[in-house]
Amino acid sequence: MRPESNELDALVRELHRQGTAWLPSGLGSRLDWGAPLRQRCEPLSCAELRGIVEHNPGDFTISVRAGTPLVEVQEALAHHRQWLALDLPWGSATTATSTGSIGGLVARGLSGGYRQRHLGVRDQLIGLQLLRADGVRARAGGRVVKNVAGYDLMRLFCGSWGSLGLITEVTLRTQPLPPVRRGLLLQGSLAELAALSRWLLHSCLTPERIDLWSAALAAAAGLEAQALLLIGLASVEAGSLADQIATIRQRWPGASQELEAEAMAPLLARSRGEGGSAESTDWLLRLGVPADRAWDLLAGRDLEGLALDLSAGSGIGLAWPLPAGPVASACLDAGRIAALREHCRQLGGWLTLLRQPAGSNLPAWQDVPSRPLIEAVKRQFDPKLQLAPGRLPGVAAGLQANGSTR
Ligand SMILES: Cc1cc2nc3c(=O)[nH]c(=O)nc-3n(C[C@H](O)[C@H](O)[C@H](O)COP(=O)(O)OP(=O)(O)OC[C@H]3O[C@@H](n4cnc5c(N)ncnc54)[C@H](O)[C@@H]3O)c2cc1C
Repeated sequence: MRPESNELDALVRELHRQGTAWLPSGLGSRLDWGAPLRQRCEPLSCAELRGIVEHNPGDFTISVRAGTPLVEVQEALAHHRQWLALDLPWGSATTATSTGSIGGLVARGLSGGYRQRHLGVRDQLIGLQLLRADGVRARAGGRVVKNVAGYDLMRLFCGSWGSLGLITEVTLRTQPLPPVRRGLLLQGSLAELAALSRWLLHSCLTPERIDLWSAALAAAAGLEAQALLLIGLASVEAGSLADQIATIRQRWPGASQELEAEAMAPLLARSRGEGGSAESTDWLLRLGVPADRAWDLLAGRDLEGLALDLSAGSGIGLAWPLPAGPVASACLDAGRIAALREHCRQLGGWLTLLRQPAGSNLPAWQDVPSRPLIEAVKRQFDPKLQLAPGRLPGVAAGLQANGSTR
């Protein structure tokens, strides 16, 4: 289903009347990721809901229709020396091949290394318009930065995975593009990198990103097969940036490599998925541990041979086996996933399966104490349980439309 915007409301109302299951979709680039759907349902594409509704450069806000590609928004903002402080989604090796809509980005609620300085998608969301499962239009937040009234529905929809309603428009906070940017690449032992990272996180420096890569990912990117820290720095003037780099170098015992902004982009692209395609791996794990335990996670054997790109400040990252190539990669299977999940749990964290090979049938999410609450919210927004059945994290497979569980 790919309705024009003027056909959308009537279509959703009709689906509701019939009680038909359907899947809210952006551009359809990653629809199958996450927990498998419990029943076959037709995607409803937002591809025709495209374009910028309003950009207020002076207020640093932009309102965009849900089906607009992220890349298109970034290009438009760059003309005003602004940007959305968000990474390209994983699996987008270059801007040119990047896929994914703004609506999909908000619905998934995932973010990358820029979260260190700019926080995640949910923190940049100012307003949201949506179509409820019964076809009624609703809005949350507004179009200006200062508006605080009612429940914070926006953030509920951020990370809802298409399970609570169809996002039709979002308003986001924009940022000025920093005039100068530079990267610093440090390779060394885990203990040295951990010490530097701890110091950096407690220093007065404000890096945009502090990405921790496993040795396997470094090797796949053509660097020495040793863990690394990729530190991204930005400033309004070159002198301040040079001072920050000098301060870090004074603390770092080993060799370091300084990267111009242009050299950072291709390196970051490598971290978003070797091979450049979201289809290039069967497995994709999202994992998180308290930031100061990330080093314990890396020191264990569970991640050995896997590509891992983790934000040192949040302790959240992605891991995947590298596709066949010059660098030998470890394989994943149910036993290894279980061990890794248990290790993350012991360290106070979690592991989610974003992708797994067909037929492996491992639980995508870990059970959570908030499951009854999530189920109650789902029932409230989608009483006929039509939207993305079975996908919402924490929702029991047997949840019935009347609220009972099988
Ligand atoms: C650093 C980073 C890493 C990321 N890594 C991943 C990743 O590993 N896997 C991943 O899947 N995503 C990831 N994302 C999010 C990614 O940006 C989105 O998955 C992507 O934008 C989807 O775009 P799409 O339009 O093709 O959505 P689709 O593939 O069509 O849909 C993706 C999901 O969003 C829901 N959805 C889409 N549009 C709407 C809408 N308008 N209203 C309600 N629900 C909707 C769908 O039901 C589905 O659950 C990442 C983002 C960042 C910034």
